[in-house]
Amino acid sequence: MPNLMLTNWCNYKCPFCFGIDGMHPKRPARAMDDDTFLGILAWLKRTEYKAPIHLMGGEPTLHPKFEWIVDTLLERDLPITVFSNLATEKAPVYTEKLSLLPINWVVNVNPPYKWEGRQRDRIEASLANLGTRASITFNIMPDEADNDWAIDLIRRFNLNKHIKVGFILPTYTHSNVSLREDEYAVVAERTVRLARRAAQEGIDLAYECGVPTCAFTDAQLGELWRLGNRVMSGCYSRLDIQPTGEVFYCLPLYTLAAKHYSEFPTYDAAKAWFEKIYAPYRRIGRRLECATCNLMCPDACNGACLAANLNGIKNLKIDTSL
Ligand code: SF4
Ligand code: SF4
Repeated sequence: MPNLMLTNWCNYKCPFCFGIDGMHPKRPARAMDDDTFLGILAWLKRTEYKAPIHLMGGEPTLHPKFEWIVDTLLERDLPITVFSNLATEKAPVYTEKLSLLPINWVVNVNPPYKWEGRQRDRIEASLANLGTRASITFNIMPDEADNDWAIDLIRRFNLNKHIKVGFILPTYTHSNVSLREDEYAVVAERTVRLARRAAQEGIDLAYECGVPTCAFTDAQLGELWRLGNRVMSGCYSRLDIQPTGEVFYCLPLYTLAAKHYSEFPTYDAAKAWFEKIYAPYRRIGRRLECATCNLMCPDACNGACLAANLNGIKNLKIDTSL
């Protein structure tokens, strides 16, 4: 099931955000309206999936009808995962009301020393409300010496013992801050350090898409295996849907191809179409070794991130005819 962007604006302005090309201020600020939301639900019903619907943004708790959207999905017995930074004014209210309902929350957090003003109160109150309903996700940054704060948060608020880590990826347009080539080894080392500390607390790590396996040395990969945190990161996305109803492969590829969901008979047809238009470019990797690497396939590594690899390709021609 897709990622529904309920809003295309956010209370944070992270320079590394890879949604930047599809969001305000690059695009007019929009909240998904009732007709678009209900139309997408009817469209999704044509595909027999039981995977959760992801409510995202921007920041989903900024949507003026967030509670109605959640109620509508629950009434239809559709599983929900909310992706939120929990730093909005309404986040403590929503998390208190919804904490007993079967909703999972994935909280994208920055290190607590970066929380400003009322953000701290809101995030802490919300995490206390959610407890094991919440798991955290964040990018391993080259300028953060360690990420032990994540383990402290899990312990302090009794959160789900699971962390999803990512490496900051560039959009196709390279309009965000992303890792320099020499920083991959730095963040790989920090990831292993976090995995070691996490394992001591019974916390496991998983990986966002676009993390190249070869950023890690063989010794690091072996250690991650032993710790039960094997690197698994492909380039095979659930589709994203903008508040306007435009569907696209993933946020970093937004500027390359997007079509209104109603142009496709079903979600499966949309997914197949996006896989088809990007298939000719799947052999391009982030380094020459990708050409002969046995991990080179969408659900293993696929040369790390397709959006990053397509940047700078001359004569790029994505065929967007249906
Ligand atoms: S191009 Fe692939 S790896 Fe990059 S963000 Fe999209 S799905 Fe993830
Ligand atoms: S596919 Fe490319 S980026 Fe991925 S592990 Fe192999 S060489 Fe590295």
